[in-house]
Amino acid sequence: MEQSASDFISHAPGYWNNEPQWNDWRWQMKNRVTTLAGLEKHLSLTGEERAGVLLAGTKLALGVTPHYFNLIERDNPNCPIRKQVIPRIEEGYDSPYDMADPCGEDSAMPVPGLVHRYPDRVLFLVTDRCASYCRYCTRSRVVSGVGEQELHTDFEEAFAYLEKHTEVRDVLLSGGDALLLSDERLERILSRLRAIRHIEFLRIGTRVPIFLPQRITPELCEMLRKFHPLWMSVHVNHPRELTSEVRDALGRLADAGIPLGNQSVLLAGVNDDVATMKKLVHRLLMCRVRPYYLYQCDLIRGSSHLRTSVARGAEIIEALRGFTTGYAVPQFVIDAPGGGGKVPINPGYVVYHDKEKVVIRNFEGRIFEYPEPGAARSIPRHDELLPI
Ligand SMILES: *Cc1c(COP(=O)(O)O)cnc(C)c1O
Repeated sequence: MEQSASDFISHAPGYWNNEPQWNDWRWQMKNRVTTLAGLEKHLSLTGEERAGVLLAGTKLALGVTPHYFNLIERDNPNCPIRKQVIPRIEEGYDSPYDMADPCGEDSAMPVPGLVHRYPDRVLFLVTDRCASYCRYCTRSRVVSGVGEQELHTDFEEAFAYLEKHTEVRDVLLSGGDALLLSDERLERILSRLRAIRHIEFLRIGTRVPIFLPQRITPELCEMLRKFHPLWMSVHVNHPRELTSEVRDALGRLADAGIPLGNQSVLLAGVNDDVATMKKLVHRLLMCRVRPYYLYQCDLIRGSSHLRTSVARGAEIIEALRGFTTGYAVPQFVIDAPGGGGKVPINPGYVVYHDKEKVVIRNFEGRIFEYPEPGAARSIPRHDELLPI
């Protein structure tokens, strides 16, 4: 029988045998798989993967928590989890369009580590480390500590900039992953931000609840709830990532009053099909997470093997909208190469539009007309209405 959205599987020790410290996030971090030998202890690698691991040392480090590693299907070379975290030889190939900084962040930093692209909000890069490394990382130039650049966030200068810039009402903490900071360090940063009167809205972009659900401790949740309104965007690409441990971690965050959104990246052979995406968005709702964005994969160096067409993304959205819960449908976006910011990409529901009317297509393909206000004879005049 088909597994339903409410059937959550636990991925307790599979490659690791009854590890007593399994639920300790520090143990998970210390025991990450970071080397070729570590990988080969558990999996037989293909030549493409082995060569990819050797490359990773100078581009984007290999790192996978035991929790996430356990989701890899041992004998499936096309496992969607494997593709996200195990390097491949193709990472060494840059397509002509690939860029080190595809979203043009470095040129939008008034202070090192602070990206101010949009009028009223900023992206604050608070660390360069993650619990595990996604092979398509949009910030691989600085993330993981082995790439071509280093992240040198100037915290004091960033706070000074934010104090001065009263137009900033929304600060997004990212990195790297902000939830890898200690509770104390994160609390100090959040307190500094909350002390700035004009900053209304705080959010954290994190994949820790998925890579390292053990880190979502009751203590962390108690600390975070002091900073409301605080929202969180998590990053789940495949329904398999939503295990019962992850669901429970997300539940603890939701119980702390943190509204949860999800940002997925459209990835070839991982989630670029309707069935997978539908299962993912349904299961996200079961975890109290609202699908927020579906990203077209950035033109990051060495990621062309993971990219899929924009048309495919639009097709997926078209297969969701109307066919399922509106809350389950993310906004598909392209982060415009070179620094244009996020641009929404929508299936063509507007068939025709002029001053008089808009002709629209619904999810079933039926055509409707909506008259614009003031359009000649668009709305029946009073004397044309039938008496009731
Ligand atoms: C994505 C992003 C934001 C947040 O954008 P929202 O659409 O508000 O979620 C802010 N700053 C930068 C630089 C970003 O890339």
